[in-house]
Amino acid sequence: MEKKFLYEGKAKIVYATANPEEVVVYYKDAATAFDGKKKGEIENKGYLNAQISAYIFKYLEKQGIKTHFIDLIGEREHRVKKLEIIPLEVVVRNIAAGSLSKRLGLPEGTTLPLPVVELYYKNDELGDPLINHSHAKVLNLATQEEINYLEETALKINKLLVEFFSSLNILLVDFKLEFGRFNGEVLLGDEISPDTCRLWDKDTKEKLDKDRFRRDLGGVAEAYLEILKRIKEKA
Ligand code: UDP
Repeated sequence: MEKKFLYEGKAKIVYATANPEEVVVYYKDAATAFDGKKKGEIENKGYLNAQISAYIFKYLEKQGIKTHFIDLIGEREHRVKKLEIIPLEVVVRNIAAGSLSKRLGLPEGTTLPLPVVELYYKNDELGDPLINHSHAKVLNLATQEEINYLEETALKINKLLVEFFSSLNILLVDFKLEFGRFNGEVLLGDEISPDTCRLWDKDTKEKLDKDRFRRDLGGVAEAYLEILKRIKEKA
């Protein structure tokens, strides 16, 4: 397939294709954390995340969620619809961890009585600050209608993914979504993988996600492989 370099991010490279409505996303092994201050490489991460993310997008599509995903090409590339990305990160949480634990003083592992949805402004210079609806509208990031759709869809996706991971004996602690506009619709974009979710083994509470990298716990690639293995066993 003819490809032309468009953009390189922290974890992915985006290529233009002959079709102006589609791009190819290449998943790299590079890993970053803490706004890019911590850098590393996780062997095979690109392959593992491309595979895991493809399974999850296919599952969500089957359940009626509109996404950018078209298909998996080879080992670590996705063919996707080219979105106009909405510069918001939508985080959903079921169990306290990470920045929520710090901000609200809730010990990591506290089960939340209802899912929490948060919006962060995607802006590296500002360090992706937590924002509210008014902020998003003042900055012209999205309309109220779009914000409502993002939050409702994120909660729907949460229900589907809690169930999906539960069947793999995994707790979905929290995760981050990104959306974009395409021909007058809003579609789920980016990736869903152990880079963007916190995933704990139900029995042992062992972390099977990027916190192994963030916190230097070791066994990072092994944890990602374990997620892919459980997905494949179930598929
Ligand atoms: N997350 C992400 N990208 C980001 C920030 C967060 O994928 O730029 C994910 C993160 O992996 C976790 C969830 O969103 O699953 C909530 O992250 P949190 O706000 O706790 O921040 P962190 O502790 O990751 O800095």
